Amino acid sequence: MVLIFRHLNVQIKLTSLYDNFIANITHELKSPLSSIQLYLETLMIRDVTVEKQKEFLKQIFNDTKRLQNLINSILEISALENKKRKDIFSEKSAKEFFIKIIKNSAANFKSKDEALSLSIIGDCKIKVDEQLFKMVFDNLIDNSIKYSINELKISVLISCNEKNVEIYFKDNGIGIELNKQKNIFKKFYRIYANDIPNVRGTGLGLYWVREIIKNHRGNISVFSEGIGRGATFKIVLPAYRNNI
Ligand code: ADP
Repeated sequence: MVLIFRHLNVQIKLTSLYDNFIANITHELKSPLSSIQLYLETLMIRDVTVEKQKEFLKQIFNDTKRLQNLINSILEISALENKKRKDIFSEKSAKEFFIKIIKNSAANFKSKDEALSLSIIGDCKIKVDEQLFKMVFDNLIDNSIKYSINELKISVLISCNEKNVEIYFKDNGIGIELNKQKNIFKKFYRIYANDIPNVRGTGLGLYWVREIIKNHRGNISVFSEGIGRGATFKIVLPAYRNNI
């Protein structure tokens, strides 16, 4: 009997997570679409200056990119989960690869240059799927922006040794309560923050990040001293052969 209730409880929790997810993903899909529609209507109905036209087209382009990224991520991860994704691993210098990919992700989110500080100790070879790793840093940076109230500061420390590459990705955002930290990598899991009640999201980002890192034989963990104290994500990946 106890077991049945426990099972029911788990099912109810899963159902409510899933219902929230459906509401959230619908919003994620609808909001860029509505924005595109509004810009197009304005362009069709009103006489807008060439300057404004350019601004609207840029917004439309950004909204289509946001939709495309979301849909691509869903397809990529579903293929990864079902082991249907063709691995495109290639050997790279950790130093070159991470500088490039982290700077690109930060630029996509228009975060100010001074918001990001990057330091690297040593170098080694890694085997990575570039497309998937782009999703890792897109999600981490997107979250740092979403879950911060004050002026954002991200610092990344990458350190190579003979066995591993360790990446410490630290922000100065709202932080995460200790008892919730272990849940944030679960599918659909989101935390409601009083200070920022309307943050968009699906609860999939960090789940994707963990799946991608697992696929690279690595692991990810989070550490935060609590609310208002920022968060640090630690990624460990295997290094190949000796240091470069
Ligand atoms: P989403 O951002 O769509 O809610 P994620 O899977 O990316 O989903 O994150 C899960 C939860 O973890 C978020 O709802 C948020 O509460 C928390 N979180 C993630 N990254 C951070 C961060 N950098 N600082 C504070 N909280 C975070």
